[in-house]
Parts: sequence; C-alpha cells; structure tokens
Amino acid sequence: MSKTIVMKFGGSSVADAEAIRQAAARVIETVAAGHHVVVVVSAMRGVTDLLIGAAQRAAAGDATVAQATKQRLWERHHAAAVALLPEPSWSVLGPVEAELSNFANLTSAIAVLGELTPRALDLIASLGERFSAILVAAYLRSQQWHAEAIMADSLIVTDGQFGNANPLLAATTDKVQAALQPLLADGVVPVVTGFMGATEEGVVTTLGRGGSDFTAAILGYGLDADEIWIWSDVDGVLTADPRTVADAHPIRQLSYREAAELAHFGAKVLHPKTVRPAVEKRIPIRMLNTFNPSYGGTCITHEAVSRHDVTGVTAIPNVAQVTVEGRGMLGVPGVAARVFGAVATLGTSVLMISQGSSEQSICFVVREEEAEAVRRALCDSFEREMARGIIERIFVEDDVVIIAVVGAAMRHTPGIAGRLFTALGKEQINVISIAQGSSEYNLSLVVSAAEADGAVRAIHDAFHLERKNREGT
Ligand code: ADP
Ligand code: ASP
Ligand code: MG
Repeated sequence: MSKTIVMKFGGSSVADAEAIRQAAARVIETVAAGHHVVVVVSAMRGVTDLLIGAAQRAAAGDATVAQATKQRLWERHHAAAVALLPEPSWSVLGPVEAELSNFANLTSAIAVLGELTPRALDLIASLGERFSAILVAAYLRSQQWHAEAIMADSLIVTDGQFGNANPLLAATTDKVQAALQPLLADGVVPVVTGFMGATEEGVVTTLGRGGSDFTAAILGYGLDADEIWIWSDVDGVLTADPRTVADAHPIRQLSYREAAELAHFGAKVLHPKTVRPAVEKRIPIRMLNTFNPSYGGTCITHEAVSRHDVTGVTAIPNVAQVTVEGRGMLGVPGVAARVFGAVATLGTSVLMISQGSSEQSICFVVREEEAEAVRRALCDSFEREMARGIIERIFVEDDVVIIAVVGAAMRHTPGIAGRLFTALGKEQINVISIAQGSSEYNLSLVVSAAEADGAVRAIHDAFHLERKNREGT
C-alpha cells in the first residue's frame, strides 16, 4: 500500500556530497517502493553555528568574520555541487550566491548598527537550510527523479517568537496541503527547508535549534502522513548519549510520552516539540540512521511498551539552580506563586522545580545564561521580605547539570529512587536536589557539572540499560 512519508535528514546526513548521496539513496528507495515522500533537510553540519557566530561577531562590530564565513560557505556548497552534479548549473549555484550576498549585506549593516535583532538573526540562521534544500533537490533531479526545493517560509505559519517560534497549525495545514499535495500527486518529491517558518506577515522565523525534526512533524500533521522518519547519524534513540556512555544501545520502541521526556531532558537526537503534532494525529515516528539503513532504529508510537523499569537516562548541561531560602518563609502563603510569577515576567522557562535539602527553600533550574537576570528579578520582587529577614538568601549555583531517568514502567516499580541513590552514593556523587516528574515517567536530579558524566554512567550501569534493550525487553 502506498504511504505518505515525511523524511527528515539532519546536518550530518547532508554534511557533504557523500552524505547527500546516502540521504538521496534513502529517498529514492522509498519512492521507488511506491510511496509518496516529502523530504525535510537541515543545514549542512556546522553551517547554522557558523551563520549565527558570524552575525554575533558582526553585532560586536567585527564584520571580517562574516566575510570569511561567506567564503567558507560558498566553498563548501560549491564543492558539494561540483561533486554531486554532472554540470553544476547556475540554477543551483546562482541562488546560493544570491543568498550569500544578502548575508554579506545584512552582516555589514549589523556591524554598522552594532545591533542584532532577533528578527535579523532568524533570517540569517535560516540560510543554511535554503542551501541544502537547493542542493538535495538538484541532486535528486540529476538522478532522474522529479524534485523541487521548497522554502518553508511559504508553508509554515508561525507566531512571532523569533528563535523559538510556534506553528499555527490550522493556517499551516492549509498551506501545506495546497502546496505539497499537487506535487505529490504529480510524482514530484518536495525537498523542504527544515527549521524555518514565517509569521502571517511573511517575516522569517526559526523553530529553535535542532528544529528541523519539528518541521517534519508539522508537515506530517498537515499532510496526515502515515509515518515520519527522522534520519540521523545514530541507530535511533539510545539509552544514553553515546558520547557519554560507550555501551548505550538503541531503544527499539518508545511511547510518545517517553520520547517527549527523553527529548525534553536532553536527548539531542530529537527536538522536544516534535512529538506534539505527531501525537495529535497518532503518526508513528521512526528514528533511523542514514548510514546504517538496514537497522530498524527506534519506533515511537502511542503504546507504552512494558519494560521492567527505566528506559533511558539523559542530561541537560549549562543550567543553573536558583534557590530562595529563609526560615520565615514557612507558612507565609503565596511565596511560590510570587517566585514563579517573577520568573515568568522575564519569559524564562523553568526546566525543573525541586525540593532542596531544607523545606524552607524553593529551588528551580533555568538555563545558565538566564540565571543572573532571574536572581536580580527575585531580589527586586522580595526586597521587603529580605529586609525583614523572612527571606534570607536568594542565590545561584552555576556549573550544574540536570540528569533525568525516564521510563513509562517506573511508576509501577517500587524502589527506583533507592537503587538510583545507592548507585550514585557508591560513586560518591553528591545529589544537589531531586524532583519527581508529575507524570511519574521521570525522576530528575541536579548534580555538579564535574560529576555529571559519572552520574549518567553509574545510572546506566545500575539499571542494566544496555543489557535490557539488547534483549528487547
Ligand atoms: P541531526 O543533525 O541528524 O539532527 P543531532 O546532532 O541533532 O543530529 O542529534 C544526533 C546526535 O544526538 C547523536 O549523534 C548523539 O551524539 C546525540 N545524542 C544525545 N543523546 C542521545 C540519545 N539518547 N540517543 C541518540 N543520540 C543522542
Ligand atoms: N540547522 C538547525 C540547527 O542547527 C536546525 C536543525 O539542524 O535541526 O539548529
Ligand atoms: Mg538535530
């Protein structure tokens, strides 16, 4: 039966000509099997970082980095085009050159003004995806398949939250269906830029770093796709970050809930918002390896597959814990509401709320770069209570990491916390604070950055994650 499949290729899957050949092979196999395929591409690996870095340097008054970046990006895309295409025509390289000229003009203006607005940053950050969509579509055409590069600012309608925009799904669905369905019906493979959208007024936005996964899910939603396949450079969602745990192993089946928790707590392989549109339409997500396609990868669906206890362990680095402390707080109503009210006015998201070692404190974790502003806002808001000694200290602990232990079966299994703390105790790892997720799908804790890798490894070992997943239990 013919299916509609949205396939997303990440930065390493389009990193150079050879990777693009592999990615295209995955597309061609699936189209040749009779399926309708919509392709979503990320920028080549490292390109988004280069673009953002150059824009930030320009804002600091240094436009030379942007000049060098323009040259590097041209060489990299030009080299890929020459290697991939029999005769890289101007129809491919012309648009790349034109966008790079825009980039040079924009960064010069930013350097002169000494200001980088979130809006300008999104426009610049989205360029990498434009280049790869043009290249991949051209390569598919050179292999005698019909393909068309589509810029997602014409498809995905978002709110105006630059750098972390949210799709307006109804308006997006209308555009996606109008633009993509006729192409699919004509046997054309649309190659859509990941990561970007545009407001209703047409101003380019981005969906957050790593957001091309989310693009795939948004398009899957709009098209009522049968499946969403996320192709990366690992064999699926693993029990832990393979850079930390050498024997981390792919998890064959995950529920949407578990996948969302793992992604939220740092499993970089999947953008945290990806699961939302997929859940609503119950579209299965497969996580696959472009360079090892015969391996089945991870399948994410509605069903929680029963496991003994823990499914995976993740970490969020570069966070800071903020503590509001005072003996007089006990019994004073509304302190927590005021704390989080003050945080909310800054637009900061709280990653975890925890119980500190004493009950006379409230602690929570935010991104490191936001911690100081949060501390200041709290000091302002509680000035009177501090003067009267009701609140004694408001302080920030930097260099900490959130570690999360995730598993759907955890809530039916007694003693998980005991085993966890025994394992960490054996390694003499100090737990700064803990939180039980409201869903009981996770248990998270804060440790110092220096002890984070050791903690992840100790937990992975303690729950025999590698062995369980190998056995497929
Ligand atoms: P892509 O460019 O394909 O989107 P990413 O770099 O965003 O790929 O994500 C894939 C990377 O995520 C892997 O190479 C791996 O190093 C890292 N990673 C971190 N945690 C996990 C995990 N639990 N499972 C799989 N990969 C993980
Ligand atoms: N290129 C973007 C990034 O680096 C989006 C993505 O790769 O998913 O964040
Ligand atoms: Mg990614």
